Amino acid sequence: MSRQVSKDTGAELAVRQLLHAAGLRYRVEYPVPGMPRRRIDIAFTGAKIAVLIDGCFWHGCPQHATYPKANAEWWRQKLDRNMARDRETTEHLIAEGWTVLRFWEHEAPEEVAVRVGAAVERRQTERTRGRRE
Ligand SMILES: [Zn+2]
Repeated sequence: MSRQVSKDTGAELAVRQLLHAAGLRYRVEYPVPGMPRRRIDIAFTGAKIAVLIDGCFWHGCPQHATYPKANAEWWRQKLDRNMARDRETTEHLIAEGWTVLRFWEHEAPEEVAVRVGAAVERRQTERTRGRRE
């Protein structure tokens, strides 16, 4: 069995608990529309806000990314592909009208939750004022 690489990190769980405690409701591991096998970590489907919390190693955090020395070339290619996929997913979601919020797993869950909550609130205010554009 291969391990899921990007799912249920401690950081993501902590953020989810904070959002839930703040009264926000969201979907977890929500499929990216039109992109089979890709998932949004935390999705606010009504507001179309996608929250992605990226693991520092697998997604190449500039502060913590390391390339293993054994099989260095293989790892470099693998991690570069992951990052290219991340960019592709972000661009796709934006093109579909989503707001994409990406965070690193090393960021403080409290700060992440505050920023997500603010974005959801902003989007709801906009929607009650009527359609944008
Ligand atoms: Zn990091």
